[in-house]
Amino acid sequence: MQYGALEAGGTKMICAIGDENGNILERYSIPTLMPEETIPSIIEFFSGKDIAALGIASFGPLCLDKSKPKYGYITTTPKPGWMNCDLAGTLGRALNVPVGFDTDVNGSLLGEVTYGSSKGLSDVVYITIGTGIGGGVLSNGKLLHGMLHPELGHMLLRTHPDDSFAGRCPFHHNCFEGMASGPAIKDRWGAEGKELSNREDVWKLEAYYIGQAIANIILTLSPQRIILGGGVMHQLQLMDMIRNEVKMQLCGYLKTDELADLSAYIVTASLNDDQGIMGCIKLALMAAEENDQIIGVKTCI
Ligand code: ZN
Repeated sequence: MQYGALEAGGTKMICAIGDENGNILERYSIPTLMPEETIPSIIEFFSGKDIAALGIASFGPLCLDKSKPKYGYITTTPKPGWMNCDLAGTLGRALNVPVGFDTDVNGSLLGEVTYGSSKGLSDVVYITIGTGIGGGVLSNGKLLHGMLHPELGHMLLRTHPDDSFAGRCPFHHNCFEGMASGPAIKDRWGAEGKELSNREDVWKLEAYYIGQAIANIILTLSPQRIILGGGVMHQLQLMDMIRNEVKMQLCGYLKTDELADLSAYIVTASLNDDQGIMGCIKLALMAAEENDQIIGVKTCI
């Protein structure tokens, strides 16, 4: 049996065909233009491939509440053309297959807990730190949605007393994403992160914000493990700085076996940047099992 996987990003759409073990058999990348151009290319790729279901992990915000008429939509995104786009419904109806739909970060998390080094854990948080910052949450073995879905990238943080950067989030200025995303690093220091690899001050400050966010996540969600992915995390020197910062922020308040070894507790993604697309395969497998058909007639093409 073959399954379709779509990692829908703001700059590119990664389409793949996979099997139930998460093996990727074929992969194709399409630039994310307007829906009228992009969605037909996605349909064309999957047509005739005899997929049993499609799993989509998408940029958001998304409507993930199956009881709402807008289930399957990208909702209030500022990305031109994609606001109120019925992505899951349009693809599900065109290809006539069950569809699994979730956020990009929940997709990466699902890939890691299904096929990666966090297999078997029931409570895990995945944070991506790149152009934006987002977080997926697995709680009691289920991906957390709730009212909408977690938006960990916009959690409010304390600004470091020596940091005069105002933050670049258009909504909150100095939230996690506003202070620590790739573009925030560039705005604050005047150069891309990859050009600043040997600047200790840059990464100490970055670790201060990431560590603070992780401490908040530990205190609120009580995960068994935290996985860090995204372009900024390619700076591997950050890992130990982040672990130290988390330890300082928690001030010894929590004492658990997991927190006794932070090198096993706060880890990098384990699937060579395939965690997202592999998570989409798992979303497709779950949709096939539940026969999750999206009904309705609205389309965005
Ligand atoms: Zn924000």
